Amino acid sequence: MSTDDSRRHYIDGEWTTGTGDETFTSQNPATGEALASFHRGTEDDVDRALAAAEDAYDEWRSLSHIDRAEYLWDIYHELRDRHEELGEIVTMECGKEISEGLADVTESWHMVEWAAGNARHPHGDVVPSEIASKDAYMRRKPKGVVGCITPWNFPVAIPFWHLAVTLVEGNTVVWKPAEQTPWCAHIIAEMFEDSGIPDGVFNLVQGYGDAGNAIVEDDRVETVLFTGSAEVGHKIASKVGGEPGKIAACEMGGKNAVVITEEADLDIAVHSAVMSSFKTTGQRCVSSERLIVHEDLYDEFKERFVDIASDIAVGDPLEEDTFMGPLIEDDQVEKFKRYNDLAREEGANVLVDRADLGAEEIPEGHEEGHWVGPFVYEIDYDEDLRCINEEVFGPHVALLKYSGDFDRALEMHNSVDYGLAGAIISEDYRQINQFRDEAEIGLAYGNLPCIGAEVHLPFGGVKKSGNGLPSGREVIEAVTERTAWTLNNSKDIE
Ligand code: NAD
Repeated sequence: MSTDDSRRHYIDGEWTTGTGDETFTSQNPATGEALASFHRGTEDDVDRALAAAEDAYDEWRSLSHIDRAEYLWDIYHELRDRHEELGEIVTMECGKEISEGLADVTESWHMVEWAAGNARHPHGDVVPSEIASKDAYMRRKPKGVVGCITPWNFPVAIPFWHLAVTLVEGNTVVWKPAEQTPWCAHIIAEMFEDSGIPDGVFNLVQGYGDAGNAIVEDDRVETVLFTGSAEVGHKIASKVGGEPGKIAACEMGGKNAVVITEEADLDIAVHSAVMSSFKTTGQRCVSSERLIVHEDLYDEFKERFVDIASDIAVGDPLEEDTFMGPLIEDDQVEKFKRYNDLAREEGANVLVDRADLGAEEIPEGHEEGHWVGPFVYEIDYDEDLRCINEEVFGPHVALLKYSGDFDRALEMHNSVDYGLAGAIISEDYRQINQFRDEAEIGLAYGNLPCIGAEVHLPFGGVKKSGNGLPSGREVIEAVTERTAWTLNNSKDIE
């Protein structure tokens, strides 16, 4: 692939190679094969994109919500028309099973439908004046130029969590997608181009963290929407924290748990634990790496869970019946193995270790892929153990036994610094209600796997996992500011 063939940034309504000489390649994690080459964005490219977004802002904000949403409706239809093509590209770029690749695209058009539909449903708080002769209400206005920085694991849905509401509300955007999934980003930019959205309203700069950082540090950016790791998110939040008026809305990782009480239906418990731990090969922000199980059903649960984990096959993610695909990249395989070793050092009794799969377990023709199987262990609970506190982002699962009442399970559940997602499996409504009210998480599931999202619901965490803003309807909070408006309706001069 020559540099000339490399795909470009989309800035101010044009495809451009940008100012840098470097290119980077998107790879298929299931085969190791290079998929396409892209120009790597520089600080100068970000600067140009921000200038274009700033220039386009006044005209864009002067349109009505309904007029702005018209462009999004075009994209909604393109997402539907190109569903299979884009779903396959998601699977090829990030290794998710094809049903997940397709679902990523479906979720994105649900988000666009919700955001564009809201243009017909203007919202705002009515806050009447205390004085009879005055009218008062709260008005929302766009923030200006918004920077969007997104991760690789939902390469179509998460960008639309950020982009759809932000644009309909009247902001302009500079977007830096993950370096692992630039092809998905390229296609999304093609859709914006096809929609005829005015130049400069939507800008795409491909590349790495340095380009993302240039967005964060620029004074023209009023709001940064970030979804990704806690490590990067906390850096961004601390950079932005010193500037009043500038917001970093960050959604980050978790060390999520499924709590299985003595009142659980065991079939639901096993199903939920397997889905929560191994779906998308453990690479969802809501994936569960801790299973907190009551001693009364611990042995039976363990036997059934371990049987499944020992048997789950990895497979070509493009095949419909594949349950587990590869990890995203070599670095992630190394991290997974490092944490498996750490668990051993911290005293784990290893129940399943399929980190190094045999040649016969790897799908034919996929030998260069980033394959691993489940790693499952039991360990005596100690709140300071790193293996049960730090996010691995792979099929690395700790079984933690508890005894006594439900308070103990909650204490173990809440002892981590993260607070993204968790599930309770129980038939006792008092335990379920207590979990809903006392689990320190933003996403709580009852008798369900610890996965899933609905676009109109807030999606995000508390504690180290984030401030719950760059997704769901909460995005509106992050990308608008409020004016308290008061009008004197009497002839009195005040
Ligand atoms: P990551 O933090 O490595 O990268 C995310 C984005 O940040 C990428 O676009 C990257 O290029 C950019 N970036 C890196 N360094 C930067 C810097 N210094 N300044 C600005 N931008 C920078 O995350 P990832 O590996 O792409 O995604 C996996 C992580 O995302 C996991 O921790 C997962 O839990 C989390 N995640 C969270 C949610 C959620 O809604 N809470 C959803 C999906 C993924």
